[in-house]
Amino acid sequence: MPSNAPGRSDKDTPPPLPEPLRVPVADSHTHLDMQSGTVDEALAKAASVGVTTVVQVGCDLAGSRWAAETAAAYDAVHATVALHPNEAPRIVLGDPDGWSRQGARGPGGDAALDEALAEIDRLAALPQVKGVGETGLDYFRTGPEGKEAQERSFRAHVEIAKRHGKTLVIHDRDAHADVLRVLEEEGAPERTVFHCYSGDAEMAGICARAGYYMSFAGNVTFKNAQNLRDALAVAPAELVLVETDAPFLTPVPYRGRPNAPYLVPVTVRAMAEVRGVDEDTLASALAANTARAFGY
Ligand SMILES: [Zn+2]
Ligand SMILES: [Zn+2]
Repeated sequence: MPSNAPGRSDKDTPPPLPEPLRVPVADSHTHLDMQSGTVDEALAKAASVGVTTVVQVGCDLAGSRWAAETAAAYDAVHATVALHPNEAPRIVLGDPDGWSRQGARGPGGDAALDEALAEIDRLAALPQVKGVGETGLDYFRTGPEGKEAQERSFRAHVEIAKRHGKTLVIHDRDAHADVLRVLEEEGAPERTVFHCYSGDAEMAGICARAGYYMSFAGNVTFKNAQNLRDALAVAPAELVLVETDAPFLTPVPYRGRPNAPYLVPVTVRAMAEVRGVDEDTLASALAANTARAFGY
């Protein structure tokens, strides 16, 4: 049986290459370090279908250093650096599950978070680092005991982004109101991106008025995600981005299989349908928007 035969249930089988885009775009948010294969392979595969640029996002110190190194080595890769909203509380409180590299060493308190933030600050100054993130708030994975550390870390990242003139990349999970509040209180950087946009059409209006970019991931294709499609339908054309958040959120019809930047065209086509525009028009806008959003 060919490896990509329909009906195959192997969750580890990479989906087939989609039809190439005629207008090249960027994957505005990916995690190459969590995907299988080499960076060269991932970039070549993506470029073969018109995904010629990727933004590699750091989630902890090791991942942020790796993102910066990779962006220095490849013209097609831009980096962002941060402590993920779920990482900050682990640094302060320790990590009972041993999930994270820093947290596994045990509780480090506020001093450990400050130390980690100082390293993010240092990395954020590098020219190939275009953004600070993903940062923000995640009330899905972090419980009430981690909220304080999470918000403190978020505010610090906003400050770092502004001081270095870098783009802020927001991770907002089940925390829309508080994310918007913190941004308002701190004063958002000139360029702010809501990665894996998860708000509804009403919030898209708020983001539009504030000039925040909204980056849509593969979950916009999910059957139960009508709220995301409603938001995408009303978002201003100049503020819409596309991303994979790979290896997560593989678009339909490949949901559940490994995601990678080469699958961006699948999401772009679904987005074009939602917005009622042709693929090339949307791809041109996405390419220009991503370059503007990350200042490259
Ligand atoms: Zn995220
Ligand atoms: Zn991510």
